[in-house]
Amino acid sequence: MYNILVNKEYGLPDDYEPKDLIEIDKKYSIKGMAKKDAVIAFIKMAEDALKNNLHIINESAYRSYERQKELYDIEYAKKGNKANDTIALPGHSEHQTGLAFDLCTDTHDMYDFENTDEFIWLSKHAHEYGFILRYPKGKKDITGYDYEPWHYRYLGDLAIKVYESNLTYDEYYKKSSKEI
Ligand SMILES: [Zn+2]
Repeated sequence: MYNILVNKEYGLPDDYEPKDLIEIDKKYSIKGMAKKDAVIAFIKMAEDALKNNLHIINESAYRSYERQKELYDIEYAKKGNKANDTIALPGHSEHQTGLAFDLCTDTHDMYDFENTDEFIWLSKHAHEYGFILRYPKGKKDITGYDYEPWHYRYLGDLAIKVYESNLTYDEYYKKSSKEI
């Protein structure tokens, strides 16, 4: 149910809008919505992190096709084709699924997120809540994107298997669809 693959190869229809999008509690989010089950799991994760005095905050979750197009066009105007290393074409963003979250801490600095205790905690525990780090370091040739320590993808129960496989989700998806 959550095992949808969206990457440079596989896109979503322009008018794809996930069902049951809900607002994310402002205590743990700057703004935005995501799919209900993913939000419930995210809040549980953020609450448990907070018990350890760690502040995990959602910076950006669901984005519509139109919103992604606006963001892409801004990046493209700045960087040209280089924009494709860091931002997805409209229809090819995981954020359109309502299952992806860009996370940060109180500083709201995504680019420094890797150096925070929050990131270390997520590296150990995110999969227990159904989330994986979607664009790991050194995997650009597979995922198509530069390392994004802030981008987490909700996969439900599957997250543990993907985490334990040590594969990117792109690889895991291909491997598991061959096995079926
Ligand atoms: Zn993202």
